[in-house]
Amino acid sequence: MFCGLFRMHERCASCQFKFEREPGYFLGSIYVNYGITALIITVGWITLRFGYDVDPELLLIGFLLFLLVFQTLFFRYARALWLAMDCRIDPAIYADPPIAPPEETHARQ
Ligand SMILES: [Zn+2]
Repeated sequence: MFCGLFRMHERCASCQFKFEREPGYFLGSIYVNYGITALIITVGWITLRFGYDVDPELLLIGFLLFLLVFQTLFFRYARALWLAMDCRIDPAIYADPPIAPPEETHARQ
C-alpha cells in the first residue's frame, strides 16, 4: 500500500485496486488513529496513576512523547484499518465493474 512513510501507491500492484476512492477519503483514518491513541492513553493513565501512583507530571510528559511517536508510526495502520473497515461495510463500491443493486423480485403495479 505504501511507498514511503506517509506516501501511498495509487493502486494495488497486484490487483489494481484503487486505494483512495475520492479526495479526502482517508480523513476518516484520523478518527481511527485518534480513537486508538486516546484509548491507550486513557487506560495507561488510569493504570499508572491510580495503580502504580506515578507522578502526574511525569505521566503528562511521557504520554505527550508517546502521542507524537505513536500517532506517527500508527499512521499507516490507521489508513489500512480504515480501508479494511470500508471494504467490509460496503464491498459493492469496490467491485469492478460495480455490482448492481439486487433487482426487485416482485413486479411493480
Ligand atoms: Zn491487491
